[in-house]
Amino acid sequence: MTFQTLTPEAMLARLVGFDSVVGRPNAPIIDFLREGLSVQGLSVHVLPGPEGDRANLFASIGPEDRPGYVLSGHLDVVPASEPDWRGDPFTLREDGERLIGRGACDMKGFVAAAVAMVPELARMKLRAPIHLALSYDEEAGCRGVPHLLAALPGLCAPPAGAIIGEPSNLTPVLAHKGKAAIRLSAKGVAGHSSRPDLGRNAVHHLVPVLAAAVEQAQALQSGPQDGRFAPSWSSLQIGTLAGGQAINIIPDSAQAEIEARAIAGVDPSDLLTPVIDAAKAAGVDVELLSRYPALALAPDHPLAALITRLSAREPLGAVSYGTEAGLFQAAGIPAVICGPGDISRAHKPEEYLTRTELHATCALIRRLGETLSD
Ligand SMILES: [Zn+2]
Repeated sequence: MTFQTLTPEAMLARLVGFDSVVGRPNAPIIDFLREGLSVQGLSVHVLPGPEGDRANLFASIGPEDRPGYVLSGHLDVVPASEPDWRGDPFTLREDGERLIGRGACDMKGFVAAAVAMVPELARMKLRAPIHLALSYDEEAGCRGVPHLLAALPGLCAPPAGAIIGEPSNLTPVLAHKGKAAIRLSAKGVAGHSSRPDLGRNAVHHLVPVLAAAVEQAQALQSGPQDGRFAPSWSSLQIGTLAGGQAINIIPDSAQAEIEARAIAGVDPSDLLTPVIDAAKAAGVDVELLSRYPALALAPDHPLAALITRLSAREPLGAVSYGTEAGLFQAAGIPAVICGPGDISRAHKPEEYLTRTELHATCALIRRLGETLSD
């Protein structure tokens, strides 16, 4: 079968077959999509990131000089090392309605539907374009998509909207919290604990910074509130803590990882400022691990009306997981989340999408095409 004649199921099987695990080079899946889409006459742009060995892909169907709509998905998946897989996670298995494989739900199912619909969309004579924006390393904190968004002004007219196909049971989602994460590293000088005067205790250096984080976490509870989110405030937590080798050795290193989650209108990086200030004062190193802004589309925005019509479902106010949608919005492109499958199946063994969900996604994309054609 040629690329153009692959059914959505067959396309999903091909995509799942690439073990495009986050944080690794992704040339095989990019080459597969670039070749298959180029053959169909699409202008396809491979947009490498600074890593040099991995890339985003952007392709357009229809007139690129007019504002259109972006279908956005990530090509990376989380590792599949859980022992509970009942088959090879990178070989799509069919079990009745279920299509099982790593990424089937998060989110190669959406990507498969979009790519499998390209021949049909190409025949529709679209008045406004439909773009495919496929990113890398989303699972590492949206590392790939910023490079795609930076290149976008040179590739097409400013899009009227973006649909991020993260699992939402094909119910539109208009908002999620933003997030920023940092790693703190304190260095000390090792020695016997009986002679603290000869060493420097890295854990002791870290503690005031951790205290600042706890204080900030408590203060945020009575800070700005947004009732669309649960909880309604921005939050912060120390997620990991490590340091020291033995009780009678002066610790020569100590680390902690801290994340902050921001309601709409709050920069997640700002939430970490008191912690970063404390780190500077204590001589503790700070490394930014990831950051993406909150998503908040106004319920009366035309994109909200469009996605409500396409999905035939009333939008949900907010979800607790983060996506690339906030980065599209920050780049000036209105964004919503609407993708097949349930987020509770993601990052788990035996991850699956049902055939019905896959075909419902194709139908939604078909309705978008029909909306944009004469
Ligand atoms: Zn995802």
